[in-house]
Amino acid sequence: MTQPSSPPTVLVLSGHDPSGGAGQQADIEAIAAQGVHAAVAITCLTVQDTANVRRVEAVAPELIIAQAKAVLADQSVAAIKLGLLGTGAIVTAVATLLARYPAIPVVTDPVLVATGGGRLAADDLIPAVREALLPRTTVLTPNAPEARTLAGDDDLAACAETLRALGARYVLVTGGDEPGAQVENRLHGPEGVQVFTWPRLTGPFHGSGCTLAAALAARLALGEPVPLAAERAQAYVARTLAAAFHPGCGAAIPRRLGDGNAESGR
Ligand code: PLP
Repeated sequence: MTQPSSPPTVLVLSGHDPSGGAGQQADIEAIAAQGVHAAVAITCLTVQDTANVRRVEAVAPELIIAQAKAVLADQSVAAIKLGLLGTGAIVTAVATLLARYPAIPVVTDPVLVATGGGRLAADDLIPAVREALLPRTTVLTPNAPEARTLAGDDDLAACAETLRALGARYVLVTGGDEPGAQVENRLHGPEGVQVFTWPRLTGPFHGSGCTLAAALAARLALGEPVPLAAERAQAYVARTLAAAFHPGCGAAIPRRLGDGNAESGR
């Protein structure tokens, strides 16, 4: 009898959100929906509900790296997804680890502030992301406020180019926080700029950024080039948001699993 083949693995380094909307649960569900296996190292524990974050406790960098190394030694990791990293020390430790695996594509979601307004990152995270992480990032997925904070500019196209100049190969700036009848996401990369337009849905949503970056990492793990992976991940996110649900008192969370919700372009 032949063994069923294994799906590719995405190594995720991200935080835990007990509401189940963002963080690791979002990552695992979004990656599983692409038919890919998620192996997950915890970077931070948070206390939060669907409305906002109340507390963030970072895991010791050495313990995060040990979790990641256990996965890297055991499984053939086809892509890495970075979510909430929390502190500059964690960013630096993760960047040092990534330097040993130059062939693995890395999707970095630069998590700074929750949709509810709660801060998720220490002050020293931003310079560490700019200096240590962007040079090792294949695709950076900032929303508009994150792009402006990281690049120190107001114009989003200028921000994306600054972040590319700092080393990110591609920058996918999402426009959900920007005004407009439709949501425009822009992928800046070596081929130029590609604009993706999506219907604007009534939010707020909790966990949409995690869902996008995780789905994108999974599509890269399947071997898709970045522009195709970015398009398919966005299409998946659009479906999860159109079917979002309200498990609590705050924001809606994307419906990442369920009938007809897996990305089909495989
Ligand atoms: N909690 C964790 C662990 C996260 O990783 C994130 C975002 O990436 C959030 C909370 C915030 O999610 P949102 O901005 O969608 O509310």
